[in-house]
Amino acid sequence: ALLLEQVDSNVWKAIEAERGRQARSIELIASENFVSRAVLQAQGSVLTNKHAEGYPGARYYGGCSHADAVEILAIERAKALFNCRYANVQPHSGSQANQGVYLAFLEPGDKILGLDLRSGGHLTHGARVSLSGKWFQSVCYGVEPITELVDMDNVALIARKERPRLIIAGGSAYSRVIDFARFRDIADEVGAIFMADIAHVAGLVAGGVFPSPIPYAHVTTTTTHKTLRGPRGGMILSNDAEIAQQIDAAVFPGLQSGPLMHVISAKAVALGEALHPTFRTYAKAVLENARALCDRLAQGGLSVVSGGTDCHLGVIDLRPWGLTGKSAEMALDEIGITVNKNTVPNDNAAPLVASGIRVGSAACTSRGMGVDEFREIGDMILATLGGVRSGTMNAHTLKAIHQGVSNLTRRYPLPY
Ligand code: PLP
Repeated sequence: ALLLEQVDSNVWKAIEAERGRQARSIELIASENFVSRAVLQAQGSVLTNKHAEGYPGARYYGGCSHADAVEILAIERAKALFNCRYANVQPHSGSQANQGVYLAFLEPGDKILGLDLRSGGHLTHGARVSLSGKWFQSVCYGVEPITELVDMDNVALIARKERPRLIIAGGSAYSRVIDFARFRDIADEVGAIFMADIAHVAGLVAGGVFPSPIPYAHVTTTTTHKTLRGPRGGMILSNDAEIAQQIDAAVFPGLQSGPLMHVISAKAVALGEALHPTFRTYAKAVLENARALCDRLAQGGLSVVSGGTDCHLGVIDLRPWGLTGKSAEMALDEIGITVNKNTVPNDNAAPLVASGIRVGSAACTSRGMGVDEFREIGDMILATLGGVRSGTMNAHTLKAIHQGVSNLTRRYPLPY
């Protein structure tokens, strides 16, 4: 059989170049990780050929017995890992998991309350440019200006005033513990549904180092590809039979048709890996490493939003250094450290410029790096951004930092 290289050298070259980029750079994007070879193998399997509309035992197509087997494995493992009674593993992405919840419980024009995008919320939590902000009336809570933490009394005040149909906790760039119990109390008080979106912290919840929303939320959504270290995809979890039934109907046939069976098989593999005791060690290391990195950046004079982190990510406010997120992202890219620009609380910069960067520890922890390496990475970031700030960066220093990146990535190779 002809291999990709022979059939389509252009695509093959791009994939190989990406493999090299991943191997040679320090990946600090908080929403990324490195899956195992087993996950990669399942995702690249013949299950991509299978159309399997419906759910295990109730499919609209023949030949689904093996598809059923992998989907049941994924569901049972998700339930065991998150200690919940129901799991839908079909959403193609985190966004579609959230849309599944909206389709199940909301009518167009209903009001939703979520964390403001600039304070770390996600697009799908009501941003104007997203379906969630176009089809629903979206209102938001922010973070308290001094502590940069979500102020639960303020969330309660807004909820009482606005009476939303759905309240969302969680985000993409909020690094602190979330008071899920209080969110549920507030939702109960105003008669709202409480949805927790743990897309970012799911692996930490699974690994026991971040509080679980499962006992409190009516419904919990997540991605499977961030700290959970699975294929790109989404999942919806709940403990209530009626809610689970509405979710299933919303995902299929409401929102999607054929599930991505190859991805679901990779989800099953990743969930199996996360059930292994070593995953708890991994989750603990992710947290320690994120704290080591944020502490080092703070010691070097950078401003860490909210003063630190309780998870895998940190948001750095670059306004005190007079830099933009865009310029920092570009400068770090040049030395082989990959981050993303990110808005910070009360940011006036456009999203494509932004006043901060977001860093995360999940991916490099998967390579085996520990606290010492993360401190070293912190020093490289400080040296680079310090050079840009003072205008003293020169080819010699740049080369020396780049060499440091190369040494680290060579010491902690990827398995593929
Ligand atoms: N929810 C949160 C909190 C996220 O950070 C993301 C990340 O992208 C999503 C949802 C959407 O996930 P996806 O990119 O898979 O649609």
